[in-house]
Amino acid sequence: MDLLLKNATYIDWKTLEFSSRNILVREKVSSLQFISDSDTGAVDRDIEIIDCSGRLVTKSFAVGHHHAYSALSRGMSAPKESPQNFHEILKYVWWTLDKCLDPAMIESSALVTAMACLKAGSTFVIDHHASPFAVKGSLEIIAKAFEKVGVSHLLCYEISDRDGVHVAREGLSETDRFLRDHQGLVGLHASFTVSDRTMVKAVDLMKRYNTGIHIHVAEDAYDQGQSLNKHGRRVIQRLEKAGVLSSPKTLLVHCLHLDENEKEFIRNSPAWVVQNCESNLNNNVGYFNGAGLGENIMLGTDGMHSDMLRSARAAFFTGQRYDNITYESAYRRFRNVHRYLSENSFEGDGDNNLVILDYDSPTPFSHENFFGHFLFGITSNHITDVISNGKLVMNNRKIMTVDENEILGESREQAERLWSKMQQDS
Ligand SMILES: [Zn+2]
Repeated sequence: MDLLLKNATYIDWKTLEFSSRNILVREKVSSLQFISDSDTGAVDRDIEIIDCSGRLVTKSFAVGHHHAYSALSRGMSAPKESPQNFHEILKYVWWTLDKCLDPAMIESSALVTAMACLKAGSTFVIDHHASPFAVKGSLEIIAKAFEKVGVSHLLCYEISDRDGVHVAREGLSETDRFLRDHQGLVGLHASFTVSDRTMVKAVDLMKRYNTGIHIHVAEDAYDQGQSLNKHGRRVIQRLEKAGVLSSPKTLLVHCLHLDENEKEFIRNSPAWVVQNCESNLNNNVGYFNGAGLGENIMLGTDGMHSDMLRSARAAFFTGQRYDNITYESAYRRFRNVHRYLSENSFEGDGDNNLVILDYDSPTPFSHENFFGHFLFGITSNHITDVISNGKLVMNNRKIMTVDENEILGESREQAERLWSKMQQDS
């Protein structure tokens, strides 16, 4: 059903202009229609009217890098052996977890992630998935779960040789199968777990489907060390030589440990960088600095959570010491994901994706001081309603598309199953 948002304070997410609007939102039409007060009576009877008096309406958000597969990890026990570095964090925690995932757990992870995204105002997710012992069909499970909740997506399977040639081959096949019918990317875990042979095959897929590679890059100095030892060149030189950087759809995630030459390669390429500040803090791998990386920088959550406002704030605060970030560039990085999606003609992020916020500011709020409110005032707690592709998917903080309690109840059961499986396997 079409929607009429009456008496809204609309903030244009590009110009940051504030205006009083009645907004007509349609499912089939991605652009918005503004109508005058006198014409609101003339709209179709078959329309849902939402009174937005005193509330803000603006474009919804999108997650530049997520891992729905990690959703069931929250609150699980620490690994038996305590990780001492980044590679051990992967081995003892994430690579133990992802090997235990089965289709039911993958589905639960995707459903709760999609719900968390909507609650935090995101209607589009770029996800990087791994389940080495349940590869086949995993992307379809995630796609269906996201769509059921009302979240658009750009998915990929995290192809890697870390579990042997057979699993790497399965990752390539799953990618090939999924890309035949869906928009998506070709996922690679990271340079240090991908052989030259697998890299070539992944880039072939990327070219065949005219898409990009989605890969973790220099998250830790370990990635660089391995690249130099095994391949005789640094990570970005290796990726560049393989053709990864040639696509404007390619996502280079993290990019912490790069030298000036590598930054120049990225700056002069059409590829994008995705910053995930809180994950870097948690893994104690270093600090992101956007200086020298060009303008194509966006933000993600790296599976830590699903709240992009939080990611923007963390990037800004951490950046005070380690980055060249400003109020304005923090906002620009937060919104750059829309530029990435639209410039590459990905579907699902049109203008009919909106959030409604109940933000009763104690101080004046306008075009002039927007950034101050963006970084120090507005949180996901202010989001009351979310519209995804013209459809009201969250109303008064309640998700309309699925039964939240049922999904959370199921995910708690799946989490217990996962945790006990991990105990047996580790
Ligand atoms: Zn990641």
